[in-house]
Amino acid sequence: MVTAVILLGDMIIIIRPDTSQEEIDYVISKLKDKKLRPVPLVGVERTVIAVIGDDCATSMDGISALSAVERVMPVSKPYKLVSREAKEEGTVVTVDGVKIGGKEVVVIAGPCAVESEEQVLETAKAVKKAGAKILRGGAFKPRTAPYSFQGLGEEGLKILAKAREETGLPIVTEAMDVRSVELVAKYADIIQVGSRNMQNFSLLKEVGCLNKPVLLKRGASATLTEFLMAAEYIMLEGNHQIILCERGICSFSDHTRNTLDLSIIPLVKTLTHLPIIVDPSHATGKYELITPMSKAALAAGADGLMVEVHCDPEKALSDAGQSLKPKDFVQLMKELKPLVKGLGREV
Ligand code: PEP
Ligand code: MN
Repeated sequence: MVTAVILLGDMIIIIRPDTSQEEIDYVISKLKDKKLRPVPLVGVERTVIAVIGDDCATSMDGISALSAVERVMPVSKPYKLVSREAKEEGTVVTVDGVKIGGKEVVVIAGPCAVESEEQVLETAKAVKKAGAKILRGGAFKPRTAPYSFQGLGEEGLKILAKAREETGLPIVTEAMDVRSVELVAKYADIIQVGSRNMQNFSLLKEVGCLNKPVLLKRGASATLTEFLMAAEYIMLEGNHQIILCERGICSFSDHTRNTLDLSIIPLVKTLTHLPIIVDPSHATGKYELITPMSKAALAAGADGLMVEVHCDPEKALSDAGQSLKPKDFVQLMKELKPLVKGLGREV
């Protein structure tokens, strides 16, 4: 069944089920005649086409009368394309066969930073064996101090590519600025937009033009609406493969590095069709809190986790205190299994 929903500024046009592509194209051409901008949202069960334009209420004249149009309704939220109103069906982002947003809970693991080939390969093999489906590692590191390790740059990306070759694990790594997006995209399977860059609108637009999944981390001081508006920037450019990531927010509490805001997960699930994962490492800054917070995140409905693992945390060049040893990661995966099963999901 093909149902198309056409979003017009702040209106959604729902197309009748089983409408032919020609008829949908006809609706699109009519919208284009009105100088509106159609944005197709392709789902598995239905095609959603968004159209952005001003003065939509008057532009609707004649559109609702088209035979392909079932009904026209307003989108109440400031974000349009990422909203559940525009697309009821949840988005599943597929990376090299790994599906994020489906029944399976996907665990991403790896070091905070790529430090050496040995370090990455050893960690990659260990996390794969324990059940991780995607390897993480930063080659360009956003550090608070300019004197801290800044990452290996392209050499780090090559090491990640080698780890992918040896383990088969797809890789996620951060692009810190517009300048480095092309280079990072050459090596990465998923481009990470870090928390500090959540409102770097030029960067969001740049990754929005890629045909590659984006892992968008919530800014430490971003509201839920700001987070979803950042995703909207990416989607408006045409890239619909977005994975959201809650990684903790600033608060007065100082017992953890950030405050993990788990209530955002069910809300994101209600308000948007995008998958969301949780990063308990950056959220807490404490390795001993990763297991309990991972369990809480999955219980709240997260589609996956991103966990920092280092083969020798004491020697880590960044985020030593929040990195699990491989043996602790094995234990985490073991403990998650029955919980995931109880939640009716898979790992
Ligand atoms: C990271 O995941 O490597 C990272 C720097 O996280 P965040 O942007 O959430 O601080
Ligand atoms: Mn880190």
